[in-house]
Parts: sequence; structure tokens; C-alpha cells
Amino acid sequence: MKHILEKIKEYDTIIIHGHIRPDGDCLGSQYGLMNIIKESFPNKKVYVTGDVNNKLEFIGTPTIIDDKLFKNSLSICVDTSSYDRLSDKRINLSSYTIKIDHHKDSDKYCDYEYIKDNYISTTEIITSFYLKYKNILKMNDAAAMCLYTGLITDSGNFTYNNVTSNTFKMAVYLSKYNINIPEINNKLNKESIELLRFKGKILNDFKVTKNGVAYIIITKEDLKKYKISEEEASGLVYLISNIKEIYILFIETKEGIRARIRSKHIPINNLAKKFNGGGHILASGAILKNYDEVKELIKSADLLLKK
Ligand code: AMP
Repeated sequence: MKHILEKIKEYDTIIIHGHIRPDGDCLGSQYGLMNIIKESFPNKKVYVTGDVNNKLEFIGTPTIIDDKLFKNSLSICVDTSSYDRLSDKRINLSSYTIKIDHHKDSDKYCDYEYIKDNYISTTEIITSFYLKYKNILKMNDAAAMCLYTGLITDSGNFTYNNVTSNTFKMAVYLSKYNINIPEINNKLNKESIELLRFKGKILNDFKVTKNGVAYIIITKEDLKKYKISEEEASGLVYLISNIKEIYILFIETKEGIRARIRSKHIPINNLAKKFNGGGHILASGAILKNYDEVKELIKSADLLLKK
């Protein structure tokens, strides 16, 4: 952590990167860190770069910045386990690169990497980083809101595996700032009529394999018919979470068929790896090339449950 602080002090321009399809922890980490650095060192130029998540625009809306801003800069990549998952990949234009992440299988792609895979979220790491150096760094309400949002989204409101006393400690600390917790929840949970109808379709159409893998396949036609975005639809994996041990949402995207794989107890990260994906022990993902691979993944998941 000391090295990260030294590098932040050293550079006048700092660019904060996140992953494709940014979630609450990614954007919360990007904007939380940006606000801490800006509040602590007002003369530094700090940018957040990468993809936008419309639902999370209350945290912040990244833009793709100009190449020339990277000159003599420090790039900090948050919550992004591998280079190919970075949304803005131009870290080679920076003078020095740092990764801050909580994923287990993190590929090395930065000059310096700080990985705490026992932390529920990257925002938990960043809040701990701030607290360690709070004699030098400054927090503000905006940073606290971003970091708190990352904590609750990646921990499923403090219910997932890897939630520890430290997670609660960070939440207690952040909640002392002027953040509107019910309003954050309202924004995260807001849904359209179309989305509610689409939930009905998922609840009708999901399938269960012989040994107990619940899954749902969402096609491009479904998205068109129900007028909902890929982002909204892919967030619905939790709908089939409470029936069986393993549950998977497949969704057609422009990159391929995205699989969001979840498990209650049985590790599924190696299953994801088998299909060139990865992730956490109980929450992983992969991009599949075609429906043969979908079938194969379902079969492999089913075998994991065979007694
Ligand atoms: P998701 O279902 O997208 O929320 O992903 C769950 C976890 O798996 C995330 O923490 C990701 O880092 C990881 N993951 C998802 N998709 C991939 C992929 N294609 N390759 C590697 N890791 C992935």
C-alpha cells in the first residue's frame, strides 16, 4: 500500500481504469479513488476512463480520454483481473501502471499489483487503503458514496461469501459521511415495467438439469421483444439463485454468449476457466463462441453436482 501512495504522490496526472461492463464495485472504486486523490491533492489531474453503465450514472460517467493525457501519467487499474477485461486498454501509454484488485485469478499486466482476494470488493481495499493513510489522504462525501455503493453491490448487501468484519467496519466508517443510503438503494433497485415483465419470462422459462443446475438462456430477440438492455437482463441471474446449487444465466452479446455462473458452495471458477473465463470461487463468468459450448458448459456444470 505504501508503494501505491508513493506513486500517487509522485505523478501529477493519474488515470483510473476499470473493466468492461462496469459494475458498482468497478465504478465505485474508480470514482471513490478519484475523489480521494482529488480531495487530498487538489493540483493533480485525475481522470476516470472506460465504459459507462447507465444505471450507475449516479456514481459517475467515464469518458474515453485523449491519448496525449497519458504522457508522463500513472495508470491505476481497479477491479480488473486481466488485461483483456480492461475497458480502456491504453495503459502502455502511461509511465507506470498499478493494479488494485480483489479477484483470485488475477493475471499480471501492471508494473505493480496489489491484490487482496479475501476482500469482498475493490472498494473495500480502497477504503482500507484510505484508512491506513488517513493522516495524508482525505475522504469526502462523494468518495464515501461511491465506495459504499461498491461495498453493497459486490457483497449482495453484506450477504455473500467473503463478507468479513472488515467489510462491516468499512461500511460503518463510510456511513459516517453524508451519504443517502436509502436513495442509493432506490437508484440501484429502480426498474422499468419492461424489466418486470421480463422477470416474469425468466421465471417461466428457466430450466433445471438432472443433477440440479438451474439456467436461463437470453437471446437478442428476447431483448428486442421485451425492450430491455443487455445490461438489465444480465443483472437478473439472481432470479434463479435460490432453487439449486449452481445457476447460470446465458445471454447473447456482441462478443459471444456470455455466461454468468454462480454457485452456493461448489467452486465453479475452474469450470469457467475451462471455457476461457474466470472469476471468483462462487461467482465466475465466460464468453462462449456458440451454442455447442453452451451445451458443454451446462453438461460440465451438471457433472460437478453428480453424487
Ligand atoms: P460476472 O458474471 O460478469 O459478474 O462475473 C463474475 C466474475 O467472473 C467477475 O468477478 C469477473 O471478474 C469474472 N469474469 C466474468 N467473465 C469473465 C471472463 N470472460 N474472463 C475472466 N473472468 C471473467
